[in-house]
Amino acid sequence: MQVKKTLSTLTPYVPGRPMKDVQKEYGLEKVVKLASNENPFGTSPKVKEALQAAVTDLEYYPDGGAKDLKAAIAAFHQIPTEQILVGAGLDDVIQIISRAVLNAGDEIIVADPTFSQYELHAVVEGAKVVKIPVNDQTGEMDLNAMLQAITPKTKIIWLCNPNNPTGTYLPQNQIRDFVAQVPQEVLVISDEAYQDFVTKEIESTSLPVVDDYPNLLVMRTFSKVYGLAALRIGYAIVPLGLMSAFEIVRPPFNTSTIAQKAGIEALADQEFVLRTVAINHEEREKWEHFLEARGLFYYKSQANFIYFDTKQDSTQLAHELMKRGYIVRAGLRPQWLRVTLGYANDNAKVREILAELLD
Ligand SMILES: *Cc1c(COP(=O)(O)O)cnc(C)c1O
Repeated sequence: MQVKKTLSTLTPYVPGRPMKDVQKEYGLEKVVKLASNENPFGTSPKVKEALQAAVTDLEYYPDGGAKDLKAAIAAFHQIPTEQILVGAGLDDVIQIISRAVLNAGDEIIVADPTFSQYELHAVVEGAKVVKIPVNDQTGEMDLNAMLQAITPKTKIIWLCNPNNPTGTYLPQNQIRDFVAQVPQEVLVISDEAYQDFVTKEIESTSLPVVDDYPNLLVMRTFSKVYGLAALRIGYAIVPLGLMSAFEIVRPPFNTSTIAQKAGIEALADQEFVLRTVAINHEEREKWEHFLEARGLFYYKSQANFIYFDTKQDSTQLAHELMKRGYIVRAGLRPQWLRVTLGYANDNAKVREILAELLD
């Protein structure tokens, strides 16, 4: 038997290790996962409450069109429901877009480093991935170099704003200037998985300007600030002209009844979001102070994680942290670690352990 040839260079995604595994292996009482940028404060209590009541009608397929959730998203962002694509997390949305848009031989442009799934799905479809290094000093995506990399084969440019793993973000006006210079046949995607965490500028999201450009698509997820990673639910605001193609390749029941309900309730509790964002902002500053005091180079994050150069083997450091109950992310760049911001006491503990290990 033979599988698609394009798979030969790929390996499965390696997720952050489950807490239970680590707990068992090292005989730990407490294990904290700060490796996948989940919300340490959980999810809105209102979502939990609503879900208790939502465990009914399990024998029926979900509403494949996610009508109620789309209505809630449309009202929340003031956009038409016809432009909303709902997926089982953005992982699903990225796959749907790649499958619908990319042919073998096409090209996509991504930042390097950035979220790995854009590349994976492009390679599966036989497309070529053109990687544009982020600015070494600032960690920001290099929009000019991305513009210059456009060829007649370019189909998608993936922007991640804020970018994972650098955490850096570009204001809306820079994205607008960029899209205005990109040929209309090229789809520009802004993955705003971490947009809610941005506290720096007022005009940060590209959502309000999707209608100004026929080739701009914006993605959002319930996995990060809303704390619903387990339920797999996210969405995109899509140019109208692409929706029918996306709807063809979207699995008809890709999101569950329960996840759809959770999304509606989560949107309704913006207080929970604001609380999370405020604490995250404080904790980010504490990390920055720590890294500055120790002379460790880092990128200015506007997300719920921080990415920094440990100046030594970060895989080993991550292993040492794991033995002490803290799961963080190494392996994205040699010597660099990406640490999700958790509870204040856990963040302090991670810094304390690091200070000890780095001495
Ligand atoms: C976590 C993450 C996603 C995936 O989120 P899901 O909605 O849980 O699939 C997408 N993009 C970026 C940049 C992420 O970090």
